[in-house]
Amino acid sequence: MTNAIFQMAELLARLPGIGQRTALRLTFHLLKAPEEYLQKLGEEIATLRERVCPCSECRNLSQGDPCEICSDDGRDDSVICIVESVPDLWAIENSGAFRGRYHVLHGMLSPLDGIGPGELKIDLLAARVAKSGTRELVVATRSSVEGEATAMLIRHVFEGRDVKISRIASGIPHGGELEYSDKMTLGRAFEGRREI
Ligand SMILES: [Zn+2]
Repeated sequence: MTNAIFQMAELLARLPGIGQRTALRLTFHLLKAPEEYLQKLGEEIATLRERVCPCSECRNLSQGDPCEICSDDGRDDSVICIVESVPDLWAIENSGAFRGRYHVLHGMLSPLDGIGPGELKIDLLAARVAKSGTRELVVATRSSVEGEATAMLIRHVFEGRDVKISRIASGIPHGGELEYSDKMTLGRAFEGRREI
């Protein structure tokens, strides 16, 4: 169908969490929105990918390389927190529970899906640990099978090295905005981290 309204709704409905009805409602909302907002939204969407790049130090996604966290002198260099995804990194940042550095895996160990140490860029992490005198790696993956397997892989890779490996006490809250209770939970999860 070449109806502009349905075409727009169909594109919006491909976004996660957006059903057909919501897509139509958003389309009608856009039809009434101010012109400059629509222009800005269109430009931001069209150029989003070229304005965001992975950080060559930690693999966070940012507008510059190194990212804003790696280029912040005020952070604790002795601890690196290992996270599955950029949203997980943000969840931890928003909780204020951690002031060290990060390594973003962009996935978790899953050999059946072809995700091994190479895909998770563990070599990049190992090189950083060797170079920067890191004293502790905090594994903040989910408490799923893949999350546990990833934590075990990290422990195995750094076995015998002079770096402590710990695991946060509970998983990272997933999906949407961090609630106040999630912030408290994350704070406690970091405080209660255990050596593995
Ligand atoms: Zn970075």
